Amino acid sequence: MDETLRKLPRKAKDTHNESKKFFAKLKKKPPKNLDVLMQDLHDAEFERTDCLTCANCCKTTGPLFTDKDVQRIAKHFRMKQQQFIETYLRVDEDNDYVLQAVPCIFLGEDNYCSIYDVRPKACREFPHTDRKKFQQISNITLKNVAICPAAYNIVEEMKRRINL
Ligand code: SF4
Ligand code: SF4
Repeated sequence: MDETLRKLPRKAKDTHNESKKFFAKLKKKPPKNLDVLMQDLHDAEFERTDCLTCANCCKTTGPLFTDKDVQRIAKHFRMKQQQFIETYLRVDEDNDYVLQAVPCIFLGEDNYCSIYDVRPKACREFPHTDRKKFQQISNITLKNVAICPAAYNIVEEMKRRINL
């Protein structure tokens, strides 16, 4: 996995323009079965990918924390919400709560998430490749393919499978 992660930003850069064009066309004319296809591609890719050998998302980008996330995780630590925010979070340029630093403080050396059962919604959903109307999140996906090898493979497979 180390070698895959080392090469990923370069590969993402090399395919960026082609993927950008593909997503522009996809947005204009999404296939009727896109939701089903994305679920299949996502499931097949994550059958092959062991996130515990990777954790690149937790190491390089943090999630944003919704109010519900803060509520749930603070409760898990038996902390007041404000205390949790002051200890672990900051407000970013979009006015969202994010981690003060990466790698995520909740990531263990074994790549396990120490708050897995109560982790933020954004962590549960990353890299969002099984979400409905996938064509609507092309901008974030173009960024995610440089971080997440599974997202990269899924986008490359989309390009092979969908004729636009
Ligand atoms: S979601 Fe992607 S970046 Fe995160 S651990 Fe799994 S393969 Fe790696
Ligand atoms: S909360 Fe858990 S899943 Fe989310 S970034 Fe941190 S270690 Fe990863």
